Amino acid sequence: MAEAPGLRRRIPSVDALLRSEPGRRASASLGRPLVKHALQGVLEEVRAMAVRGAAPPEDDVILARAIGMADRAATGLVPVINATGVVLHTGLGRAPLPDAAAAAAARAGRSYGDLEVDRETGRRGKRTTRAESMLTALTGAEAALVVNNGAAALMLALAALARRKDVLVSRGELIEIGGEFRIPDILAASGARLVEVGTTNKTRLSDYRAALSSTTGLVLKVHPSNYRVVGFAATPPAADLAAVAHTAGVPFLYDLGSGLLERFHGVPEDEPAATTALADGADLVCFSGDKLLGGPQAGILVGKGDLVERLRRNPIARAVRVDKMQVAALESVLAAYATGKQGDLPVWRMLRESGDDVKRRAQRLAATLDGDLSGAHVRPSEAVVGGGSMPGYGIPSWAVEVECPEPPSLAARLRTGRPSVFCRVKEKAVVFDVRTVRDDEIPHLARAVWYALEGDDVPD
Ligand SMILES: *Cc1c(COP(=O)(O)O)cnc(C)c1O
Repeated sequence: MAEAPGLRRRIPSVDALLRSEPGRRASASLGRPLVKHALQGVLEEVRAMAVRGAAPPEDDVILARAIGMADRAATGLVPVINATGVVLHTGLGRAPLPDAAAAAAARAGRSYGDLEVDRETGRRGKRTTRAESMLTALTGAEAALVVNNGAAALMLALAALARRKDVLVSRGELIEIGGEFRIPDILAASGARLVEVGTTNKTRLSDYRAALSSTTGLVLKVHPSNYRVVGFAATPPAADLAAVAHTAGVPFLYDLGSGLLERFHGVPEDEPAATTALADGADLVCFSGDKLLGGPQAGILVGKGDLVERLRRNPIARAVRVDKMQVAALESVLAAYATGKQGDLPVWRMLRESGDDVKRRAQRLAATLDGDLSGAHVRPSEAVVGGGSMPGYGIPSWAVEVECPEPPSLAARLRTGRPSVFCRVKEKAVVFDVRTVRDDEIPHLARAVWYALEGDDVPD
């Protein structure tokens, strides 16, 4: 520790680094506040290291690290080629929008629009009226409500219908969905009281009946979207739960998570759909817009008119309202469902593409790579839905495996390359599952792999 003050004196000042040639150039292109902020962060680390006896790096090294950080912040969100085979990858933004929906969102963002006015009467309206009328038409529900995301939909329903009341939930459904989002926490935050029912693997209808009391506000069923209890396990079907709730005179809320609007070919039996949940007697159903629905981030509620009205009037509804670009994209995606074109949505195209077509894409990638590269092999693979949908349900897929000495470092170069590529890592290979890669991305993916293997930067 004796030499620490001496080491610390050798650390340059933020101002000196900002005045240096690279500092001035970076400030001119990225903005001085960003570069200054990054330098402050890096120097803080360097000072902490000096206290532990480490000599400070050269000024050039400090500058390069800070400018790299500032550059990444200034560049913003970059497009990524998703070769992970995870269709609804939350880290990569879940459902890619169809072109028409993306264009509608861009248009809504760029210009004024009739967001909350009725063009006929000139009177004030609601921003979600169009989407909600499509949702009621598509699901047969009495009413619908669109909010910012699935978590907000659940929170709003609990706050509006069960504040200071008991909410019955099976112990098998007290799940963490990801990103620290846990059902018990959201219940607590909404002001509802959690009453745990049954056990982790088995919950019976009689458990719910025994837990009902004069303070019960709601029976909640949560689709355990990112895991599956298999073996000696059971929970009552939604229809029976609905009957028990209605006998007690309380609403039955079903959080579907994934947001399948209706059953169709290629969807596993145990993935619940909004239409079947309503037919089973759910009073209110909530789900996400950007999971199996294939749309933008949104939280969708459909169900009984009086309940939806109570939610709409709750102040939380205003706090979790959707943005106009989300509204425009959602309307466009719902219009695709209304015209029977849901199979063309990118999510459903990826999920339902035939194995032969996926294999042909893998072969094309392997052939493109093989010009320069031996050790690129087409292999069967398994893609997954992800995003908390269809847990444990693999989709047969095809991948190209590229052998390399250090797969994790190659994968890291691919992530930071141009275009950025996310893939899987095996012990002796990186793996590109092409179910989630578009045809037009194949040449770019191949180029990124060449440059990553060479250790070079991709030229512009
Ligand atoms: C994903 C999910 C949510 C949260 O939805 P977001 O749109 O991510 O906010 C809530 N409940 C379940 C069961 C989910 O799977």
